Amino acid sequence: MLESKSRSWVEIDLDKIRENFKVMDQHIHKKQKVMAVVKADCYGHGDSIVAKILEEEGVDFFAVSSIDEALNLRNADIKGKILILGYTPAEHFHYLHEHNITQCVMSYEFGKSLSDYALSQNIKIEVHIKVDTGMGRIGIPCQDNNYQIDVVKSIYDLDGLSCAGIFSHFSVADTYDRGTDEAYTMHQIELYQKVLEELKAEGIDYGLTHLQNSYGAINYPELDYDYSRIGILLVGNASNDSQKLKHEVTLFPALVWKTNVACVKTVPKGTYIGYGRNYLTEKETKVVTVSCGYADGMNRQASHHHLEVLLHGKRCEIIGNICMDQFMIDASEVDDVHTGDVVTIIGTEGTETIKIDELSRAANTINNESFCLISKRVPRFYK
Ligand SMILES: *Cc1c(COP(=O)(O)O)cnc(C)c1O
Repeated sequence: MLESKSRSWVEIDLDKIRENFKVMDQHIHKKQKVMAVVKADCYGHGDSIVAKILEEEGVDFFAVSSIDEALNLRNADIKGKILILGYTPAEHFHYLHEHNITQCVMSYEFGKSLSDYALSQNIKIEVHIKVDTGMGRIGIPCQDNNYQIDVVKSIYDLDGLSCAGIFSHFSVADTYDRGTDEAYTMHQIELYQKVLEELKAEGIDYGLTHLQNSYGAINYPELDYDYSRIGILLVGNASNDSQKLKHEVTLFPALVWKTNVACVKTVPKGTYIGYGRNYLTEKETKVVTVSCGYADGMNRQASHHHLEVLLHGKRCEIIGNICMDQFMIDASEVDDVHTGDVVTIIGTEGTETIKIDELSRAANTINNESFCLISKRVPRFYK
């Protein structure tokens, strides 16, 4: 790829990620450390580059979603522990031991197959056991109506595994002020605690503990498990700006997204714009087409929701359907626009700022997804 700022590109300020790490490290319980969740290419910010600077800041544990992501970090010479939060297929089990990667065990069946593999190789594979206290996704169910502590205990008897940790995951730690959500989260904490106590009573050394994600860390900072698993907040954004948080933390968005002007033309009232013919100019309009579309990650769902971008420091509304490689804006209020001028999709120009949250709201999603959608076609530049 020609790494030029010629179509659509992202600029990432690594110092802001360092700052966000420090803010979160200060916010969590002093006994806790940050486990940096850098899955999905660190939410589109670049996993190995971000992991590298966080390692400099003292992070010693990283979490990813797959063996590919784990190997990517090892190839970048990341020395810290790496936990795979999800499933690894049997044909890739050998990488775990070879590259000192910690695997999540989310069921007895999976743990048994991993242990059998390890025994066949005369090795032990390091794992963290996942218990489901209410998320309803992966993990051994440990809920009031389905409390499978015996299954959890039986995993400790699998001789091929070295069980170095046990964790669970919140489902509504973000909306602590909505109805019964805080009570639900408190109950997840109780269930997790109960699991730990019962294992301890059996004389089982369960190793490292971690329960909170970003919102769990913000809203429940009194918890003192070994780690908080923090992803989205490290890149400087909440998932959704409208959520009320129990504690204020000031974070610094690290990413700006830009594109440039491909074409400028002034069209008369009554001109259709874009596919589907569902925008008709109501006045003479300066239509500017920019070189970014849904193949770059500009969610097509955001069309027709009055989403704006910045051109020469002024807000301009997106008009017509977002196309694969381009979208159109109404730049009638902006003077002296030329092909090649820079347009800011996310970021600040002068006194105006467009936050990722505006794009997410227009596309009816959360910032985590908006970041992940910024595609491989968009080169990342770092400072
Ligand atoms: C993605 C993920 C996280 C990080 O979530 P954020 O809300 O981005 O902090 C933590 N734990 C697990 C199990 C995850 O899947």
